[in-house]
Amino acid sequence: MIYLDNAATTPLDDAVLREMLPYLQTEYGNPQSQHAAGRAAAEGLISARDRVAKIFGCRAEEVYFLSGGTEAGNLAVKGVCAAHGSGHLIISAIEHPAVLESARQMQNFGFEVTFVQPDKNGIISPEEVEKAVRPNTVFCAVMAANNEIGAIQPVQKISEICTRYGIFYYCDCVQSVGVVPFPQKASAFAVSAHKFNGPKGVAAMYIKSGSNISPLVSGGMQERGLRGGTVNVASAVGLAAALERAAEGKNNAYILSLRDYFVGRVLSEIHGTVLNGDSVLRVPSNANISFQGCDGANILMCLDLNGICVSTGSACSAGAVTPSHVVTAVAGVERAKSAVRFTFGKHNTRAEADKTVEALKQIVSQIRKR
Ligand code: PLP
Repeated sequence: MIYLDNAATTPLDDAVLREMLPYLQTEYGNPQSQHAAGRAAAEGLISARDRVAKIFGCRAEEVYFLSGGTEAGNLAVKGVCAAHGSGHLIISAIEHPAVLESARQMQNFGFEVTFVQPDKNGIISPEEVEKAVRPNTVFCAVMAANNEIGAIQPVQKISEICTRYGIFYYCDCVQSVGVVPFPQKASAFAVSAHKFNGPKGVAAMYIKSGSNISPLVSGGMQERGLRGGTVNVASAVGLAAALERAAEGKNNAYILSLRDYFVGRVLSEIHGTVLNGDSVLRVPSNANISFQGCDGANILMCLDLNGICVSTGSACSAGAVTPSHVVTAVAGVERAKSAVRFTFGKHNTRAEADKTVEALKQIVSQIRKR
């Protein structure tokens, strides 16, 4: 199998698993418990939080462990709305559905939302964000790197604007670990371990102390009362271990050269192809390509039959397939329908890139003949 869907998820590193195992098998206590077993688990959790805080550049009490990037986006949007009761939100139109759908839900509760559109390269302009600011704006979300086209956003500038206006700024850093520095002036940002060779179902979120945000999950006093529920200590430890490795970005150059080699071959050897999103302001792993006259879902299925895993970014709702909202916003619906996302990881090889190009040549020419 050739796995070119590393933006969807990645395999767990052996070293990360080794660090997690004790907390699944021997140090299995509840970190809230007032006995030796609980204390052993609590120590693991404290150490994981410290390790994450060091990489985030914040204090340990500003790090929260959650169930994933989706929960982080929900907590940011809904938690700030719940704390304010009313107001206006600024949301980039290319956010992950965790943020977009949360904002749409908040519209049903009377919140006003401005969706800021990207330019044709998939970049959200800080000027457009500033223009959208109103006296009652309470929240802004612009991600660090987009999950579908890999476009890197000017998040430092956007965080400065939000700081100036006193707006809570949430930066989704799920796809940018090791590539884009964490926006130190943001009110909150989050990473999800399974995107960088850590376990699934765990995220770490920075929330600036003193922020006006209410919990989504009420319960015990875990996570300083902001997120009830027994913390998954093994996963928190796994996240910390994976984050330390990923934050170094030491595989970036290799992944970039592989991605550029692949894109170069596809664009030059298959006519009617175009790269979606900025070619420079882009994470090293991402190649999102439209194949004129083809349906992206068709290419995905044919590649799958050849043992190659990719993605289209289309969403399936109510039995109908809607093309990617991101590629649609950047390049129009026709290019979105014919788009395929290839995301490279440290385990991919040049031979795999070559096999994928050869398979694509055959598949695309067959589809175009139909
Ligand atoms: N944000 C971005 C940019 C993502 O790419 C994803 C996952 O694809 C998420 C949030 C959701 O993360 P999780 O899978 O941990 O819920």
